[in-house]
Amino acid sequence: MAKSVEKSRCSFCGRPESRDELFIHGIGDALICETCVEQAGLILDEEKKTHSSKLKFKFEVKKPHQIKEYLDQYVIGQEYAKKVLSVAVYNHYKRLQDFHQRKKNDEVEIEKSNIIIVGETGTGKTLLARTIARMLDVPFCIADATVLTEAGYVGEDVETLLTRLLQAADYNVEAAERGIVFIDEIDKIARKSDNPSITRDVSGEGVQQALLKLLEGTVVNVPPQGGRKHPEQKFIAVNTQNILFISGGAFGGIDRIIASRMKANVIGFDRSNSKEELDKDNFLQYIAPQDLKKFGLIPELVGRFPVLTHLNPLTKDALKAILTEPKNALVKQYQKLFKIDGIDLIFEETALDFVVETATEFKLGARGLRSIMESIMMDPMYEMPMSEKKSELKITREFAQQKMDKSIAARLRNS
Ligand code: ADP
Repeated sequence: MAKSVEKSRCSFCGRPESRDELFIHGIGDALICETCVEQAGLILDEEKKTHSSKLKFKFEVKKPHQIKEYLDQYVIGQEYAKKVLSVAVYNHYKRLQDFHQRKKNDEVEIEKSNIIIVGETGTGKTLLARTIARMLDVPFCIADATVLTEAGYVGEDVETLLTRLLQAADYNVEAAERGIVFIDEIDKIARKSDNPSITRDVSGEGVQQALLKLLEGTVVNVPPQGGRKHPEQKFIAVNTQNILFISGGAFGGIDRIIASRMKANVIGFDRSNSKEELDKDNFLQYIAPQDLKKFGLIPELVGRFPVLTHLNPLTKDALKAILTEPKNALVKQYQKLFKIDGIDLIFEETALDFVVETATEFKLGARGLRSIMESIMMDPMYEMPMSEKKSELKITREFAQQKMDKSIAARLRNS
């Protein structure tokens, strides 16, 4: 209790104690009013937020070898791409650290190494980007380039790429500013024609132009709700200087562009041995920035992606490994599902071969593995929880074939 009405004042703001407000007494004459407690709470929250984001930022810098080892746990094959990405991410780490520690008179600024990954669909472009983001523990979003149009046209403005990143970061701008944006299907915004006068290329070159400023690092006003449906929304300023952009695309037909460039080079420069060494089944491995330009990306945009790498088509062995080896491989996932019901699930090797053969036959790549497995496992997943006696289920090739004949193959053939 206060000793006297005059003496009892909040030790922080000096407000006299009153019945309308809660006052907390401390040792001796110490007293604090409700308002000051609330204020102190807010200050504490703010401090904690900044402190934790500062702490979080002090991440351990992983060496390229360690980054690749991490990627190896999730991504099968694609050795070259994993190596290139490991170095690019390592440099990005160093760049972020340098950005926060660089002295004012240090003129050397490490430039951003945005990455472009070229590879057939379902070979692991998104998986690589997603795995990197998980390793770095930074906000990550996937955006599709096909929905983007030049500002003012039907479609989405390029700024909405950052809306997704903000959402992934729970609107923590500081976290978003160190995030990773994966732009899928970047090949779909290639210039449609060499002659710009025919029609305005609002979803091709127009978008490429709009992307430039985002990629180079600038402060962008981002609509927090995205789109143009909420004209009343207040924009959030996001600096893209430290955001890593990774883009991916299949660039269908680019192998022909690469092949003709290589052929020209072979004829022009080195007739003797290069021709024999070319791996004609996989021209993507020779991709160079000029091929992207020829494909229809404007030179400035190609220049904003200094790291260019390719993914190889997945072999049957790789597809089989994808089924069983990654940390969250499909086989492991189904085994876990069945284990919850007390059932040991076993896949015979030949059954897995069948899954791979089906994916290859229908040119579904790794993307198809899941739907094929799902078709095979649907009936067992429905029936097994009911059968109390069984403690083991073996999936044979015959079983797999029978289930597939019933479902997905029929659907695929009809489509
Ligand atoms: P895209 O190249 O079209 O972006 P994704 O990365 O989305 O392909 O791959 C589709 C799915 O196929 C992934 O979710 C993953 O399960 C599987 N996958 C593709 N490539 C690989 C790979 N190299 N290693 C492991 N899984 C892969």
